[in-house]
Amino acid sequence: MKVLLIGSGGREHALAWKLAQSPLLTTLYAAPGNPGIAECATLVALDIEDHEAVAAFCADNGVSFVVVGPEAPLVAGLADVLRAKGIDVFGPSAAAAQLEGSKGFTKDLCAKYDIPTGAYQRFTDAAAAKAYVNEQGAPIVIKADGLAAGKGVTVAMTLDEALAAIDDCFDGAFGAAGAEVVVEAFLDGEEASFFCLCDGENALPLASAQDHKRVGDGDTGPNTGGMGAYSPAPVMTPDMVERTMKEIIEPTIRGMAADGHAFQGVLFAGLMITAKGPELIEYNVRFGDPECQVLMMRLESDLLPILHASAVGRLDKVTAEWRDAPALTVVMASKGYPGAYEKNTPILSLPADDATTKVFHAGTALKDGHLVATGGRVLNVTAVAPTVAEAQKVAYAAVDAVTWDNGFCRRDIGWRAVAREQA
Ligand code: AMP
Repeated sequence: MKVLLIGSGGREHALAWKLAQSPLLTTLYAAPGNPGIAECATLVALDIEDHEAVAAFCADNGVSFVVVGPEAPLVAGLADVLRAKGIDVFGPSAAAAQLEGSKGFTKDLCAKYDIPTGAYQRFTDAAAAKAYVNEQGAPIVIKADGLAAGKGVTVAMTLDEALAAIDDCFDGAFGAAGAEVVVEAFLDGEEASFFCLCDGENALPLASAQDHKRVGDGDTGPNTGGMGAYSPAPVMTPDMVERTMKEIIEPTIRGMAADGHAFQGVLFAGLMITAKGPELIEYNVRFGDPECQVLMMRLESDLLPILHASAVGRLDKVTAEWRDAPALTVVMASKGYPGAYEKNTPILSLPADDATTKVFHAGTALKDGHLVATGGRVLNVTAVAPTVAEAQKVAYAAVDAVTWDNGFCRRDIGWRAVAREQA
């Protein structure tokens, strides 16, 4: 099978690395890719916003299956264009991608199909939103409805913060994404990410993970796209996984199909495990980044037939086997991230990959044959070991073998799980 992978981050490097190991693969292309992905795929300089060009590349090169990594091309309808031309696609239609593209859409689905989530209201004007917030009190959560690169959510501990967040949204801080606002009850508990493949009708649960969103040690400082992750999430016990499937994932798949936009691809459920059980914080319609990196390190099965089964409605025919051993990834970022940072700083050396460690490239490029950091989040140093504590030790040993003066990372990824192991 000739496969085209869309994307250029650490998530896509992890997918490329795993897909490249498949005996079913003839050629793996990646667009646009990055220097790490280039080690396991042929890079193609395609404009992924030009859906017709992507389809033409597939037709010209005999590509029968496209795996879409990031959410933006899905929300923009890339999967629809490719499917209309008879190409199999891993990833939802634009209509189904609303599960990530519109928080209000997801909340309405939850309300309609009785899926546990925080109570909410949708607003298109500030005065009404503020009146509701004043009536509900703090803590309360204010969300821009649309895609805001992870920045459109304010967990307001005071009324003043909540009112200011409403003004920010309607004043255009998140552009069109903030034209509508969702105000949501604050959920108290421990967060976990849960991943499940869907083919429109069937579900194949994958594994769970926990990430670290804050930039600083001890979960302090501003929010980021994610500074590290580990899998599995200890809070996702077998009982919690079963409840998540029954109470959240299965009604979502049935509801989406009944409403005329069956969901194909990966459902990434952001969960809060509250005193009542699992509640949905949000859906994403693609793998998490960096959660995907730890999932791929733990996946024993061939990834290609599983993703393809999701694309063609055969998920009931496949299984996914996982290593029991936990995996952990540390994100190395450019100094200054998530604020402004210098670009094109040299990465002089990386540790060699081995059976237990792997460095995924997230924001790198080659300039005159030399590796440089081009993004905020740049490398994902990933390890798998019998315990989280050992995976943490191995990952940080590999981090210390990276020669990159402008890089930094958190030194405590996995601290909650390590503390649990040692309790
Ligand atoms: P989201 O982009 O919806 O995942 O929100 C980003 C982060 O905000 C989540 O990972 C949570 O830490 C927090 N969050 C979102 N919604 C809630 C909620 N209803 N209660 C508590 N925390 C929340």
